Amino acid sequence: MGIVPECFITEIVEKDLREGRYEKLRTRFPPEPNGYLHIGHARSIVLNFGLAQDFGGECNLRYDDTNPETEKEEYARAIEEDVRWLGFTPDRVLYASDYFEKMYECALVLIREGKAYVDDLPEEEMSRLRAEGKPSPYRDRSVEENLELFQRMAQGEFPTGSRVLRAKIDPTHPNFKLRDPVLYRIVHAPHYHAGDRWVVYPMYDYAHPLEDFIEGVSHSLCTLEFENNRAIYDWVIENLKGKCGLPESPRPYQYEFARLDLSHTVLSKRKLIRLVEGGYVSDWDDPRLPTLRALRRRGVRPEAIREFVRRTGISRNEALIEMELLEEVVRDDLNPIAPRVLGVLDPLKVVLTNYDGEEWVQAPYWPRDIPKEGARPLPFSSELYIERSDFSLTPPKGWKRLAPGQRVRLRHAYVIELEDVVEENGAVKLLKARVVPGTLGANPEEGPKPKGVIHWVSAHHALPVEFRLYNRLFLTKDPEEGGDFLRNLNPLALEVRRGFVEPSVLQDPKDTRYQLERLGYFWQDPVDSRPEALVMNRIVPLKEGYRA
Ligand code: ATP
Ligand code: MG
Repeated sequence: MGIVPECFITEIVEKDLREGRYEKLRTRFPPEPNGYLHIGHARSIVLNFGLAQDFGGECNLRYDDTNPETEKEEYARAIEEDVRWLGFTPDRVLYASDYFEKMYECALVLIREGKAYVDDLPEEEMSRLRAEGKPSPYRDRSVEENLELFQRMAQGEFPTGSRVLRAKIDPTHPNFKLRDPVLYRIVHAPHYHAGDRWVVYPMYDYAHPLEDFIEGVSHSLCTLEFENNRAIYDWVIENLKGKCGLPESPRPYQYEFARLDLSHTVLSKRKLIRLVEGGYVSDWDDPRLPTLRALRRRGVRPEAIREFVRRTGISRNEALIEMELLEEVVRDDLNPIAPRVLGVLDPLKVVLTNYDGEEWVQAPYWPRDIPKEGARPLPFSSELYIERSDFSLTPPKGWKRLAPGQRVRLRHAYVIELEDVVEENGAVKLLKARVVPGTLGANPEEGPKPKGVIHWVSAHHALPVEFRLYNRLFLTKDPEEGGDFLRNLNPLALEVRRGFVEPSVLQDPKDTRYQLERLGYFWQDPVDSRPEALVMNRIVPLKEGYRA
């Protein structure tokens, strides 16, 4: 089975290779380094790198860095790191800005051939005429004048935004994108990679096809919002092939697929930047975010993200994917690899009145349905913590946990029964209980059988933990519902609990992912957790219904 699920794109690629249209499949992942990658990008990464692997081709990481004002080296480095973390190795790491010279030469060719002109119209005026399907008054400048003006633009003689170079296609074209699109603009700003060499910068529609063509890309895959731009893509290539050192053939073709859209979150760098810069989250790797580095810090494995992309498929249907599906895939990924241990999020102390000293139980890491061996010593003592929600003074019908007159089994250990409840200011402060003798790991012989099993830790041995529980970042499926997305932020997207975990975790590699029984999947926060001050992230809760 390939990495990329069968889809219209794998069909096109197969056919093109079978019919010998290209010697080799070449794709690229072309992020603009103006922010961090999010899980939406993962679809594009898996598609492009996956196709190259499946079909013995090549895939480059190429920074689509044609906009000096928003791009940064910091973003470029983070993008590469994230791509590698996802499990892909670029054949080459390339920069669109390395082709500025070539793109400029190509623009001179277009001008000389009467296919491009310098326009002096202010931006709004140009938009208005384009909308009305009318030509610019500068459209019929002579080749000489255009050449001179464009060269002076490039030499920095004119202020930012004062002139543009436009393709001379058709001001009345039914596809708006073809109404003499802008190819170059003036920006007096240094570029993080190209330095201060340029003051004219190419627009996406002009730059992208050239980047692909220069690199010998065969299939240029992008998201559906570029469907109408495909006509410009083809125009640029058809008008420049065989010129400026570009080959006559083969040429790249653009194909569009639907972007990944996920419920209860935002997948747009612009909105993510607002969340980070507005202080609504701590940083780009805040585990509440859908960025790849946030998912990574939260504890999601790259395997799960690749599987999520596979399961959601590649198509031209723009469907909203439910967050539940991502959670499901993450659980499926962790279930067979996460040893089961005990921890308590919201501790309630239980003092055992008929128990002294301590015992160490060999507790298996794995449930019966996972064919794995392994156990750890788990300490038991006269003082325990249980989950506050596992006790009820006035239990509802069908209560299976601890309550007056009701026994409960402690996972891997004894059956206990309640003796006394110590209250303080109307709240339960402490429970007194006794162990039912002879019930360690066995069924109790006398008295009512326990109805349920609860988790616990030994208060004498457990390690204090700051637990960080992550919930949906937005309260609504669609964050934009009813107005600005900031209004739908979930104030409880992060909940902190001060609890405990059994001591065995200190013996494990720091990056071990666990299932805390009955609570969910957790691991130590890679940034903040230290052996003497553990911090654990909840990667994903257990499935609803398995939590009781
Ligand atoms: P954003 O909307 O987050 O700013 P973008 O499309 O501007 O995203 P780019 O850096 O241009 O971000 O994206 C690099 C590649 O990833 C592009 O080919 C783009 O189509 C693709 N991509 C971006 N977002 C998604 C998404 N949600 N689903 C699938 N592919 C995506
Ligand atoms: Mg973009």
